[in-house]
Amino acid sequence: LSEDRAEVAAAPSETRDGHAVALQANVEFREEFPLLHEYGAEGIGLFRTEMLFLTQGRALDEAQQHRVYRDAVVAAAPHAVTFRLLDLGGDKVLPMSRREANPALGWRGLRILLDKPDLLRPQLRALLRAAVEAPDAAPPRVLLPMVSGLEEVRQFRRVYQETCDALAAEGVAHRPDLPLGIMVEVPSVALLAATFARHVDFFSVGTNDLTQFALAVDRGNDLVAGLYHELHPAVLGLVRQTVEAAGGAGIPVSVCGEVAADPRVTPLLVGLGVTSLSASPAYLSLVKRVLRAFTLDEAQDLARRALRQPDAASVGRLLDYFLACHN
Ligand code: PEP
Ligand code: MG
Repeated sequence: LSEDRAEVAAAPSETRDGHAVALQANVEFREEFPLLHEYGAEGIGLFRTEMLFLTQGRALDEAQQHRVYRDAVVAAAPHAVTFRLLDLGGDKVLPMSRREANPALGWRGLRILLDKPDLLRPQLRALLRAAVEAPDAAPPRVLLPMVSGLEEVRQFRRVYQETCDALAAEGVAHRPDLPLGIMVEVPSVALLAATFARHVDFFSVGTNDLTQFALAVDRGNDLVAGLYHELHPAVLGLVRQTVEAAGGAGIPVSVCGEVAADPRVTPLLVGLGVTSLSASPAYLSLVKRVLRAFTLDEAQDLARRALRQPDAASVGRLLDYFLACHN
């Protein structure tokens, strides 16, 4: 079986008719870096950096972060690491967090970072410095969590520029020109994706939160878990709108929410026009096996039909049937 896995890891990541779809890894801890090679991941599509802080129960300083980020950049070379900046708040609380009546809609992600330069600046410095460690690799990418409006991106760019200027003034080695992307996980961003696409270098669709916000269903609440459907046509419509906007602007769009790990959904996401999928390394072999079994045309036809379904259950049935026909 492990030989089989090595074979899949080495096979090209493309549809049966040769349409390339990058398969990347979601990681949270340094211990996962060796898995990139084992599963043939084309880099890290989502590094949930907040997990480093949450497991320690405190903030890591610049030097501590730099060591981890440097190791990630080296492990992923020649591919890129997508560093999602600290996505704290919501269900991810640190001692510094405040109590809020509606944490999912509250002080979280980029909102915290823009209010707390003491958190944002050391993280940016650490990753700008780590970026020089693999000079021939694709540059690391900076991914902003929980964006809801364009002004947040503009504000972030100012801090980014100031941070680069400070490193230059100090004579500290760093790589200043990193691609900047945003999580598309709030419906306002998906609906205005064409506007956002002119201001960023890539999109990463966070279907976990996008589903929660599109359907008004708390992703962690058992009482409403039966209403939480990532395959709801309304959610798929938001993904489609995001992908079309990205295509129009010529920027890549990945999906890094849990659905990207589900091989049943792979043809649908590819058919919607997603250019890369990012999932926990262990799922990548299965996803690649399915990816290599269908053509782009077939996937696009599936996506068109899925978008016309009235509910998630009907979409699920379409996917099951498609998979049965391609096994
Ligand atoms: C998401 O929201 O889909 C996502 C990938 O981010 P997280 O699960 O860390 O919120
Ligand atoms: Mg999220």
